[in-house]
Amino acid sequence: MVRLRDRLARSGSPLGARLLTMLSREQLTEDDWDEIEETLLLADLGTGPAEELLEALRTRVRVLGVREPAAVRDLLREELLKIVDPTLDRSLALDRPVVDGETKPAVVLMVGVNGTGKTTTVGKLARVLVAEDKSVVLGAADTFRAAAADQLQTWGARVGVETVRSDRDGADPAAVAFDAVRTGAADGADVVVVDTAGRLQNKAGLMDELGKISRVITREAPLGEVLLVLDATTGQNGMQQAKVFSEVAGVTGIVLTKLDGTAKGGIVVAVQRELGVPVKLVGLGEGPDDLAPFDPEDFVDGILG
Ligand code: GDP
Repeated sequence: MVRLRDRLARSGSPLGARLLTMLSREQLTEDDWDEIEETLLLADLGTGPAEELLEALRTRVRVLGVREPAAVRDLLREELLKIVDPTLDRSLALDRPVVDGETKPAVVLMVGVNGTGKTTTVGKLARVLVAEDKSVVLGAADTFRAAAADQLQTWGARVGVETVRSDRDGADPAAVAFDAVRTGAADGADVVVVDTAGRLQNKAGLMDELGKISRVITREAPLGEVLLVLDATTGQNGMQQAKVFSEVAGVTGIVLTKLDGTAKGGIVVAVQRELGVPVKLVGLGEGPDDLAPFDPEDFVDGILG
């Protein structure tokens, strides 16, 4: 599996280098502090967290009279880590539940807007789980997009797991999800990962569709994780749509994809604050091994460069 720090460092974050240059100036003027805030905002940190970080940093730089780049970097690292929040529980709930004396598979529901990387993430996650010796079944409940089930099945074949799908376009997604979980239960699978459609028609429609999928799945086994997939390159713009999903789907964690394609790593902080759930996984490329658990320390070191 790829290392978050290495991959972020390679994508050339402007945050670390720029901030350090500015922070190490002899006398920091108000203009300098404004410029520093601008840099944080450009990295998609969000207004609230940027102000919070700046305030804490200003106070500490002043109180401690710190100037050497190494010492400034340490303070910046500490403050960044604080706002990323290393105390959040980022583990995936993948223990198999026991229902009426029967052990069921852990179910992961993948939700999010089309194009954010849901299907790819399902494939990569399956790969990680298989590498951990877990048996996995995939459910292609994105029946809206014609090629989605094929794409998922290709991923399934690639990582060596079964994909449950319907051969009919526009089939009932809840029925496919139910089938996948039932197949997983019958096969004694450890985890069933269900891909869903990301059509954001309207909130009521989405609520109906995801609500039905959840209800139908939980007839067979409780939901372990509902992971919201969010494209880091859409930054703050993707947030509004993500918010709708998080409101209707009972999201338990965020997968932030395409972090390899952006220097705006600050979105991690913004999205956690906005949606109130931790980033649990990050996508760092299109390949099968390009998924990593989100590690706050690694992340902060990566964006500081
Ligand atoms: P879905 O519509 O949400 O299921 O999105 P897909 O899984 O089809 O992904 C959309 C595009 O994003 C594809 O070209 C993927 O290869 C690409 N993609 C997904 N995750 C990542 C990632 O972490 N990094 C990069 N660079 N591309 C990604």
